[in-house]
Amino acid sequence: MKRNVTRCTGSNSRIEELSDGTVLFASLPPEFNADRIRKEMRCNPGSRDEACLEEMLACAAANGRPKALYRPCYIDARDGNEHTIEGVTFSGPLLRRQLAGVHRVFPFVVTCGEELTALAPPLGEALERYYWGSICTAVLRSAHRMMRKDLRHRYQIPRTAYISPGSGDPWLWPIEQLRAIFELLGDKPEMIGVELRPSCAMIPQKSICGFHYASEIEFHTCRACHMEACPDRLVPLDPDFWNELRRAGR
Ligand code: SF4
Repeated sequence: MKRNVTRCTGSNSRIEELSDGTVLFASLPPEFNADRIRKEMRCNPGSRDEACLEEMLACAAANGRPKALYRPCYIDARDGNEHTIEGVTFSGPLLRRQLAGVHRVFPFVVTCGEELTALAPPLGEALERYYWGSICTAVLRSAHRMMRKDLRHRYQIPRTAYISPGSGDPWLWPIEQLRAIFELLGDKPEMIGVELRPSCAMIPQKSICGFHYASEIEFHTCRACHMEACPDRLVPLDPDFWNELRRAGR
């Protein structure tokens, strides 16, 4: 697999605070744990697959430009499952449960960046696409950690949790609510190359969007998700928690 390779170093990282409080990461270092990816991909030593994976790891390290943004917003009003933030209405039982007692949220978008998306192997190359997708996910998660670290430091918040529309069972916080978050963020997602399609798919596909909020308790939507075969599950389904949200959703 031949790719154009240009050098990218951590010192290229650019962070800017805009006049409306948006913190914008125009280019973050493409960090990932290469050993963990090697282990997960289980390539036979000395195989062609292993050589391909190594080439991809080097390519991602050289070309990756993950990006992110967040900004502080205050909850103006709440009524059951509905929350109004700067005139935009959000609705879902997950919000009611997780934002009880929370007055400020940080809508955010993180992306692995269009640079890596543009280098994805062609559709027919299933294994290569699998490798590349796993690397892009690792880059995305690492960029999310960097953004979260900045948020906690900048706002002196010891711990935060986050929720995302469409994560977990669909009614928890419907994916269509991505439109409301993008409305809140205005043209800023465009500044990091993220587009929300009418279908509510984000482009680049390896992007995350949601609310961060101050919380002492770590939260994973997997607690209320029935996707049994999900390889990314972080915690088991919690039936009591799920029932509590289901009742709130009625
Ligand atoms: S189990 Fe999988 S699909 Fe469900 S919320 Fe967790 S990571 Fe997402």
